[in-house]
Amino acid sequence: MSCDFVSLALSGVQHLKPYQPGKSIEELERELGISNSLKLASNENPLGPSPLAVEVLKSELNTLSYYPDGNGFALKKALANKLGVTEASITLGNGSNEILELVARTFLAPGRDVIFSEHAFAVYPIVAQAVGANARISTANPAGHAMPYGHDLTAMQALINDNTRVIFVANPNNPTGTWLRLDELEKFIQSVPKNIIIVIDEAYFEYVEEDEYPDVLQWVSRYPNLIVTRTFSKIYGLAGLRIGYSVSNPELADLLNRVRQPFNTNSLAQAGAIAALTDNDHVSSSVKMNREGLAQLQSGFIGMGLSWIPSVANFICVNLNQPGLPVYQKLLHEGVIVRPVSNYGLPDYLRITVGSAEQNERVIYALNKVLCK
Ligand SMILES: *Cc1c(COP(=O)(O)O)cnc(C)c1O
Repeated sequence: MSCDFVSLALSGVQHLKPYQPGKSIEELERELGISNSLKLASNENPLGPSPLAVEVLKSELNTLSYYPDGNGFALKKALANKLGVTEASITLGNGSNEILELVARTFLAPGRDVIFSEHAFAVYPIVAQAVGANARISTANPAGHAMPYGHDLTAMQALINDNTRVIFVANPNNPTGTWLRLDELEKFIQSVPKNIIIVIDEAYFEYVEEDEYPDVLQWVSRYPNLIVTRTFSKIYGLAGLRIGYSVSNPELADLLNRVRQPFNTNSLAQAGAIAALTDNDHVSSSVKMNREGLAQLQSGFIGMGLSWIPSVANFICVNLNQPGLPVYQKLLHEGVIVRPVSNYGLPDYLRITVGSAEQNERVIYALNKVLCK
């Protein structure tokens, strides 16, 4: 006898579409029987993991029979020192995605509203829908704006009502790479009622070099409804370890802590993250490679007569002036994996992670080839 299990699931889960990760190199090569392919689809660091982290992980392997430190004491201490915040304000997550989910499970439910922008990170709607919250999606900046398709904070503010509990703001945003200036973001935060949690998702914080990019951690004591999330997945090159964190008012951190699993971050991740935090060379080389790579990709786009969404992160969305999915498919046959973003409401764009000089050259060459066919 079979059972309609879907009808047994929570109503939010019944209609949930799972997050689609970038295609892996192994998957592509298995499907097409090719080798030597290149993945620039998940905003991974082309320099690889921090070498200091890799070194520490080797010695850490012998401790795997023990449970990790459930409170992540040493990593919180290292983060507190580095960031100039208290340990009590830090929450560790299995990637910063887990923190986003903890926020949803702590503050959202049916009858409660969450606000985020069109073209924003795909995890916001997933964590909101899974707990049955009502998503209110604000319109983004228009195409002709200086930050095309980026967050329109005025539009987000206009969606606030008595049911609003959480607002997700990505700065910079993925997949657009657009960002919010200090003055506009602070004005927005001041305009939001203090009983609404504002999550500032800073997954790409370390890449941003703009003078007017805000130092939001300084605001956490001033605005107790802020939760700032960051990750070791991007610039530190530790996406496979799954480790991220948030900084917030200690009362909010305490609430997130009640919801999380007791051993949500593993011992290798904690040790690797501590070492990566000290690896200033790896971070500065990554920033430099990214800056040069963005310029290289842009000049490649100019050569093809293509425009792009200006990005301060380690990826860039190029406008193909035609549907992106078929171009994505053709690039796969060239052994190059990028990210279609039609599911983000950007059907004519492809998101390309900034790679090494050689990798950028290869993706431009391949794009040129498939567009000329
Ligand atoms: C990559 C990314 C994250 C972080 O992912 P984790 O690997 O779970 O830390 C969070 N937010 C945005 C906008 C991202 O692009």
